[in-house]
Amino acid sequence: MSTPHWLQHGSLVLASNNKGKVAEFEQLFQQLDLSIDIIPQGELNIEDAIEDGLSFVENAIIKARHAARISGKPAIADDSGLCVPILGGAPGIYSARYAGEHGNDAANNQKLLADLKPLRKKDQTIEGMFVCVLALVTHADDPLPQIFQGIWKGEILEAARGENGFGYDPLFWVSELQLSSAELSKIEKNKISHRGQAMQLFKASLR
Ligand code: IMP
Repeated sequence: MSTPHWLQHGSLVLASNNKGKVAEFEQLFQQLDLSIDIIPQGELNIEDAIEDGLSFVENAIIKARHAARISGKPAIADDSGLCVPILGGAPGIYSARYAGEHGNDAANNQKLLADLKPLRKKDQTIEGMFVCVLALVTHADDPLPQIFQGIWKGEILEAARGENGFGYDPLFWVSELQLSSAELSKIEKNKISHRGQAMQLFKASLR
């Protein structure tokens, strides 16, 4: 695979401090086999950006610009979350801090279960979708961020299942496989997930 002009730089900052995401990206980037270093922003001591956009796209661009500005390198950011249509799309862009405290997965999952409890009807499933937007900027003021989006549809379980993954994975039911997302290995999840789909589009853009 040839390396695009902006990657002659030799490195790309991964604008995330979320351990679960970074672990999945490590596997995804390994498969791409790019001849560049992928540097998670934590290794450069870059703190999280203030995400004050109203959409995944806006927040992904904010995060990518923040990492590119501090590092002086091209950066790719993932803004992702779970959208539940019956909740008007919540937790949506607030997925990481749904119950108040940023990154408290257990509290977020409990709040989601509690919010859905009164809405559940016998024999009816509750739809949900994981959304991932990747934004790639070649430099902090890049006027043309590249956007890659993946959507993974599933159902929201009534109780947690599985130990793998992070975030809402234990509540996300993948009916085709009859497993929760937290019962999939990283490799299996990356093949079909919102993040895996967005990375496929990124890969295609490199051709
Ligand atoms: P972000 O870091 O601001 O993009 O927030 C992402 C949040 O969305 C995470 O903290 C999780 O709560 C949720 N999320 C995103 N992707 C996944 C996933 O693959 N599995 C489970 N939860 C996810």
